[in-house]
Amino acid sequence: LPPGERVGFAVLGLGRLALEEILPAFGEAKKARLVALVSGTPDKAKLVARQHGIAPEAVYGYGDWDRIKADPAIQAVYVVTPNALHREAVVAAAAAGKHVLCEKPMATSVADCQAMIDACAAAKRHLMIAYRCQYEPYNRAVQELVRDGRHGRALLYDAVNTQNMAAPTQWRFVKSLAGGGALPDIGLYCLNGARFITGEEPVEVFGHTYSTPGDPRFREVEEQVTFTMRFPSGFVANCAASYGLHENRRLGIGLPGAAVAFDNAFAYTGQRLQVAQRDGQAETVVDRRLAAKNQFALELDHMAECILTGRRPRTPGEEGLADQRIMDAIYRSAETGQPVAL
Ligand code: NDP
Repeated sequence: LPPGERVGFAVLGLGRLALEEILPAFGEAKKARLVALVSGTPDKAKLVARQHGIAPEAVYGYGDWDRIKADPAIQAVYVVTPNALHREAVVAAAAAGKHVLCEKPMATSVADCQAMIDACAAAKRHLMIAYRCQYEPYNRAVQELVRDGRHGRALLYDAVNTQNMAAPTQWRFVKSLAGGGALPDIGLYCLNGARFITGEEPVEVFGHTYSTPGDPRFREVEEQVTFTMRFPSGFVANCAASYGLHENRRLGIGLPGAAVAFDNAFAYTGQRLQVAQRDGQAETVVDRRLAAKNQFALELDHMAECILTGRRPRTPGEEGLADQRIMDAIYRSAETGQPVAL
């Protein structure tokens, strides 16, 4: 779309994700356009605005909702602050009449998720949660492969998302801001992926958390979480996420007619999808190669498309709420040492 017809976005919270991934992704988007910045650090924001061709008048602070409301160029606000601060920004943006795209995890409690859904519904604005993998072509190809039944019924899902987190990412180790450790930040990809790929909701979870004693990063939040989710069809998802282990973001799926090995499943780039299957008498491994696309740009364009057409986002607030409920149950299970029914 030409710039005048694109949906105008304000990005709120200029941290690592916003600066390194989201702002550059506007350059690859086809229906979304960056029109404003909202930040608590004015000097940084002004510099970033200059780099992205945003006028100084379109740089706002977190208290400027009256001015944001009055800026007709802003149709949507993309919330990219620490997890526990999402609720306040989403509710304020909806009250200012803006559609909202909110980073994952949606919030840090079921009550906050519900309040965000209610605020957007009351304002008749779209609320989309930024589950980027659901817009990423390889993840979508895996979903199709599982759902179309060509290899039989999938029963086994094995997902790992680990990252050895450096200490400077302070808020991620503060429970009141992050809500938890490895689970809501990176374990969420394993969790959401299982629901996305199967289209089913788990009926039971069994979780375990671990933190290395004495590691200063894990005084408040868990280092590692492992959990099993049981689905009604018999599908079982085994998931592991850790803040203490070298990067590994892979997914495996077992079907009667194929074994799927999906490397970098949850990464920004570098996805590698291999499907081992029987081809007549021979066992073959098909290396699926898809055109690389910037998943942040795809996500932005989906939100823009929903605003232009009135269609409901594929990952609405309810998707974030469902995941929050499951994460709460995983923590409950870890505390009690018992499986928790959903
Ligand atoms: P950063 O710490 O790098 O940035 C957060 C930004 O939020 C800050 O730079 C700041 O921007 C603003 N902010 C406002 N209040 C606070 C506060 N009290 N403490 C710290 N920062 C504050 O975080 P990330 O960019 O890594 O993460 C932001 C969100 O994005 C999180 O919800 C995270 O889960 C999500 N995320 C999603 C990813 C994905 O792949 N989808 C990957 C990484 C993160 P300013 O100075 O402009 O006010």
